[in-house]
Amino acid sequence: MKRYRCLSEIRSDLASGVETLPGLVQYYLDRIESHAHLNAFLEVWGDEAMAAAHRIDEKRRAGKAGRLAGMVIGIKDNICYQGHKVSASSRILEGFESLYSATAVDRLVAEDAIIIGRCNCDEFAMGSSNENSAYGPVLNPFNTATVPGGSSGGSAAAVAADLCHAALGSDTGGSIRQPASITGIVGLKPTYGRVSRHGLIAYASSFDQIGPMTASVEDAALLLEVIAGPDEFDSTVSRSQPARYAAVTPPQKPARIAVLRDCYESPGLNPEVRARMDTIVEGLRQSGHTINFVDFPYLDYIVPTYYVLTTAEASSNLARFDGIHFGYRSQEAAGIEATYRKSRSEGFGSEVKRRIMLGTFVLSSGYYDAYYTRAQRVRSIIRRATRDIFGQHDYILTPTTTNSAFRLGENAKDPIAMYLEDIFTVQANLAGIPAISIPLGRKSSGMPFGIQLMGDHGEDERLLGFSLLLEAQFSVNS
Ligand code: GLN
Repeated sequence: MKRYRCLSEIRSDLASGVETLPGLVQYYLDRIESHAHLNAFLEVWGDEAMAAAHRIDEKRRAGKAGRLAGMVIGIKDNICYQGHKVSASSRILEGFESLYSATAVDRLVAEDAIIIGRCNCDEFAMGSSNENSAYGPVLNPFNTATVPGGSSGGSAAAVAADLCHAALGSDTGGSIRQPASITGIVGLKPTYGRVSRHGLIAYASSFDQIGPMTASVEDAALLLEVIAGPDEFDSTVSRSQPARYAAVTPPQKPARIAVLRDCYESPGLNPEVRARMDTIVEGLRQSGHTINFVDFPYLDYIVPTYYVLTTAEASSNLARFDGIHFGYRSQEAAGIEATYRKSRSEGFGSEVKRRIMLGTFVLSSGYYDAYYTRAQRVRSIIRRATRDIFGQHDYILTPTTTNSAFRLGENAKDPIAMYLEDIFTVQANLAGIPAISIPLGRKSSGMPFGIQLMGDHGEDERLLGFSLLLEAQFSVNS
């Protein structure tokens, strides 16, 4: 079977009878099985997916199918789907089944997408390599000695290896874009509040967003259109109606693009990534766009600010996992205190524990103002400085990651090195703005890397428009 880049191609093959939906689902099930070594899926709902395929094929023939008929999707294991297991790749949620579906999942299913399984990720979405999963690491399909990135590493590997057509991930500091970058796919983090977080297992609530991971910008736009919009279950979601993202076209007018000098000149940036940025910047200039190198002197503060604030939020969000309400309970638990202590000690992995402790520390009396309050102030400064750039520019262009995929175990013993993986992606989460990683780079080794485009707050539609242009002009995947 050919590899489909866009749902529109699948739909035309379904319409002409070249392909059937059960045939397509079988293709993905076979590929999941032959790529089991990637460890991208924690669970596959094969029978259910096949039953849905037959049902939706019927609907299609009757002309009654939804807009996502033909779309086979994997969901990150921190997104709830009623009646199905969800674990956030943690032992502490062992055996737990979702009592309701995430709004995003409900909306996908209502448009006849087929959910084929749940994808491995870093435990509670904390990580940049998928090595923090209680269920083992995920391997990068381009080179199985390297990581697929994280925390949505299973989702990224699944789409990159064509084990499903698209996936949902979540992005708190880069968890959609960083793995998208190093597995050569498209990853979109929408504006904060564009997509409901209802049914997403919370890591850091003022940062978390669900978003699509796809092989094309076109599909990312379509998926965003389906999952975005007001939701009574999430008070932080915007009440404005989303644009018709799926209808977006590349802009006709020249754009004003900011390139952050500090990212560009960052000593950690791989020379091949920098060279690719040069080519793209030059290509855009020649097409009539304005490129300005702008100063953004906050790069060094981005990652520390992110870690103070997200660990604080995580320490509070993860307090609910107490060995009583959800999932895992220690066998040796006796009495309430020991039940909490033992269940949490045994149930959480070491990175999650490190962050709970860090977050508890920064929130503790005596340190609260020195860390948490100050980090909130720095967040405001970064947000303002970012918005200021959009006063004069339509977009900000950066590499998504400093390099292509690193080797399994390479950063495992050095949390700081791992945290620096997110140096270019975290700004969008701190500022709440939309950002996308587009697969526009390949190293001489063949390993992919992405280029990141950020847009102003609420400008997801414009972001997607220019992404289509970048993809058409500079894609390395065609
Ligand atoms: N890698 C970052 C972290 O470890 C981002 C995670 C995310 O976006 N969920 O926190």
